[in-house]
Amino acid sequence: MNNQFLISLTEKYGAPLYVYNAAIIQRQYQRMILAFSSVKNVKLNYAVKSNTNINILKYLNNLGAGGDCVSVQEVKLCLAAGMDAQEISYTPNGVSFDEISEVHQLGVKITLDNLSSLDQFGKTFPQAPVSLRINPHIMAGGNAKISVGHVDSKFGISHTQIEAIKEIVHQNQTPINGVHMHTGSDIKDPNAFVEAMEVLLGIAEQFDTIEFIDLGSGFKVPYQDGDIETNLEELGSILGARFNEFCAAYGKDLKLVFEPGKFLVSEAGKFLTRVNVIKQTPNINFVGVDSGLNHLMRPMMYDAYHRVSNISNPEGPKKEYNVVGYICETDTFASSRILGEVREGDIICMDNAGAYCFSMSSNYNSRFRPAEVLVIDGKDYLIRQRETFEDLLKNQIEIDL
Ligand SMILES: *Cc1c(COP(=O)(O)O)cnc(C)c1O
Repeated sequence: MNNQFLISLTEKYGAPLYVYNAAIIQRQYQRMILAFSSVKNVKLNYAVKSNTNINILKYLNNLGAGGDCVSVQEVKLCLAAGMDAQEISYTPNGVSFDEISEVHQLGVKITLDNLSSLDQFGKTFPQAPVSLRINPHIMAGGNAKISVGHVDSKFGISHTQIEAIKEIVHQNQTPINGVHMHTGSDIKDPNAFVEAMEVLLGIAEQFDTIEFIDLGSGFKVPYQDGDIETNLEELGSILGARFNEFCAAYGKDLKLVFEPGKFLVSEAGKFLTRVNVIKQTPNINFVGVDSGLNHLMRPMMYDAYHRVSNISNPEGPKKEYNVVGYICETDTFASSRILGEVREGDIICMDNAGAYCFSMSSNYNSRFRPAEVLVIDGKDYLIRQRETFEDLLKNQIEIDL
């Protein structure tokens, strides 16, 4: 998607605008499948929360991916996208038992992450298989908010509680069909995966009804120049060999499952905003765009770095800028960036906008959420229309005052 094409999309659909390139989603899917080709049975369950547009779900379903869901609503979106219930996994944390029951009745694979739900599930649905989310106590992840596999994390059942797990499973005769871990997003160190996988395999070998090992995700993609990326090929060969060895010892060809979100869709997305104002203060050149933390909150929430470029004037004289939003808070998208000279009306493009961007957007400041476009084979499709004023009032109930 070159600059001219992206600019033409803002002319056609308006700005701000999310644009997703299907070819990159396909490339990332195939890279991952290839990296684990030494394993007979590999399944990628796309982490739906990273981008829930139904067309993205359909596209990934067509590629062969399943869906990993954290809410019953995400499960229903996957079903609406045409996914088979058995290709969907549900990995919630801290949800009500009513929700777990509802998802179970939809025929979806369930992973439980606490002992009380495991017991209640076993008693309510005798003989129904379920898998276990284990906390391997590994510190990994790009920042504290997305590191979810360490000892003080709220996620998973501690691997040290294996005796309690076994007692509940034995009492209720629950078939444990898999073990699962998800140690956090943005893992930079392949050894963290290997270490955590050993813990998980140690749990799996204690049950004789295992069908799959789910290693979750955390596959990192580069956000800035020089950023390291998870070395997939290296990881694939190390994990693949260990997994095959485990299957041989277990006496069964198990399925190896991953749940990538960011890896599949982050790089496919561009977020296009139009420059409303340029403001010079004594020390800083501000570029004010027609968006803010309401549309893309990762920089504000996680101090995330997104590459930014002025696609209207990439070759212009270079100057240093802070790119900021229009929300009544300090919503800085990017600071101290060198861009081709920015003029009011230019289009600023933010990279890595496919994952956790639109899906975390809101109506804060009563702004409309942007439109989304999917590009397949060079052709653009509007896949979500921009919100309108009616959307802001849609669920409000006006009383007589
Ligand atoms: C969020 C999440 C993922 C996806 O993480 P990414 O870093 O986007 O790949 C996978 N599994 C579970 C259980 C999650 O909550």
